[in-house]
Amino acid sequence: MIIVMKQGSTEADVREVVMLVEKMGYQSHLSTGVERTIIGVIGHKDKSPIQAFASLDTVESVIPIIKPFKLSSIEMKPERTVIDVDGVAFGAEKITVIAGPCSVESEDQIIRIARHVKEAGAQMLRGGAYKPRTSPYSFQGLEEEGLRFLRNAKQETGLRTVTEIVAIGDMDILAEYVDMVQIGARNCQNFALLKAVGQSKMPVLLKRGMSTTIKEFLQAAEYILSEGNPNVVLCERGIRTFEDATRNTLDLSAVALLKTWSHLPVVADPSHGTGIRELVTPMCRAAVAAGADGLTVEVHDRPEEAYSDGPQSLKPADFAACLTETAKIAAAMGRSM
Ligand code: PEP
Ligand code: MN
Repeated sequence: MIIVMKQGSTEADVREVVMLVEKMGYQSHLSTGVERTIIGVIGHKDKSPIQAFASLDTVESVIPIIKPFKLSSIEMKPERTVIDVDGVAFGAEKITVIAGPCSVESEDQIIRIARHVKEAGAQMLRGGAYKPRTSPYSFQGLEEEGLRFLRNAKQETGLRTVTEIVAIGDMDILAEYVDMVQIGARNCQNFALLKAVGQSKMPVLLKRGMSTTIKEFLQAAEYILSEGNPNVVLCERGIRTFEDATRNTLDLSAVALLKTWSHLPVVADPSHGTGIRELVTPMCRAAVAAGADGLTVEVHDRPEEAYSDGPQSLKPADFAACLTETAKIAAAMGRSM
């Protein structure tokens, strides 16, 4: 349930209610808005103590949250969350663009591509150093060496960096080298990994699992939030359907729905969402029209030689054209790129 404090209630009023919440054995999560403070009450007890709080003088109302996700819900926090990744914002007026190769392949490769995507207007560089491949015989990533190359690419270009985490034990090393961790589709419901990432304060790009419903996706986000890390960006990257003409089915209705159910920023990934280079630009446009706060796009200057996901990677010139095209839709939506 959530407790809505009266307008004008003081910090001491809020503290008093929080103490009461915790004394009753619940966890409290504060959301301090411009007009009102909201206290999220989370606990495992079956019966929620609505009456005990509703009768307090300083409390405006107590609202049960029936949805299975709480801290990520719009009820808990009516203002949109803006997440800061070393000075780059997700969820603000400007559409944030992440771009780069599927995998970090060499220092030269990642720096070359970083320069291209920076020039085209991206703010963040992506590239996997630990790759969750379907086959154990496929390229598994350069690991720490790849992280070092990403850090060097940031030094060269100023682009902030994001890379995927696949094992709990890698959290500390990732935090040393990159600005944001990605939890990939295959780990969307790896609850131990979600908790580990939740215990850090690092920004997280949480990708929807290929068979994860929107409610399950938000509950995955809830694992991170409830451990104390509020810096979650949601990413729609396509789901498995009967359709096999595309790699996945990019669920743009999820983008629109997530924006109404949750205060968290939403990013779309048309590269994995379609698996087809030619579809990336149209789906970037559509995602922005559906309300996406950001895009993540795979870019490679030699896609035919890419270690992974070459067929869905845009060449630098096509990526630049993609952003020019998509910026027109952003403008129509009252946003910049
Ligand atoms: C990736 O971003 O390269 C990736 C593996 O994505 P996903 O987890 O969405 O398949
Ligand atoms: Mn990929």
